[in-house]
Amino acid sequence: MSAGRPAPELPEPLSPIVDAHTHLDACGATDAASTAAIVDRAASVGVGRVVTVADDLAAARWAVRAAHWDDRVFAAVALHPTRANALDDDAKAELEQLADDPRVVAVGETGLDYYWPGKLEGCADIETQIEGFRWHIDLAKRIRKPLMIHNREADHDLLTVLLDEGPPDTVIFHCFSSDTNMALSCVAEGYVLSFSGTVSFRNAHELREAAKVVPDDQILVETDAPYLTPHPFRGAPNEPYCLPYTVRALAQLREQDPVELAKITTANARRVYRI
Ligand SMILES: [Zn+2]
Ligand SMILES: [Zn+2]
Repeated sequence: MSAGRPAPELPEPLSPIVDAHTHLDACGATDAASTAAIVDRAASVGVGRVVTVADDLAAARWAVRAAHWDDRVFAAVALHPTRANALDDDAKAELEQLADDPRVVAVGETGLDYYWPGKLEGCADIETQIEGFRWHIDLAKRIRKPLMIHNREADHDLLTVLLDEGPPDTVIFHCFSSDTNMALSCVAEGYVLSFSGTVSFRNAHELREAAKVVPDDQILVETDAPYLTPHPFRGAPNEPYCLPYTVRALAQLREQDPVELAKITTANARRVYRI
């Protein structure tokens, strides 16, 4: 988590917006009251709904509880690719049960992370990640819910495994961070690309170019809070209320009216998550 810099000030409201991917537990929410406080703050600037995402089993249980505490919160459950080595039979059984909950709107975050193996103690190796990814793809198809992908330095293998396995109807690339070629490949497959605060970073040249080629009906916005705080607050703690900063930066890149982009991404979030 970021530390050292004060929390960003509240942005000018921009309504309506859905935060397509956040981690309320990592933002400090523990119970119904602390969850409501974060969502109230977000709602005060137009971010009326959030999808809180799990990366391990404990977080998955928590995300489903949070989605039942507050009707503005929805959940996504999976084991993060770096934790794919924890996907034993018990974990699979519990994830299937959690994913079936009506408040769970996606299977995620799953996918491939080629950055951490060898650097992070206990991180699943690539082979284990691919096996776990295949299992999550199959789960999403069986329960007919969107698949939410985490991709770090794994563009080629992600597309290959998805096509090999056969993708579910809806595939969302959360925190899209790749270049224009990858964006076009995803768009051609009908995948949805979700942009986080990284798209506002001045040095993210390739990503900023990629954001321009995504059609209106395949784009989402997210905070991935508490990480990836948008410019000019990089390094400060992020929360769903910061999403208007990212929407405005993205709108400027795409030469769109921010209010229009907020409406477009909200309509997409409602369609893909069925909320
Ligand atoms: Zn991720
Ligand atoms: Zn995340």
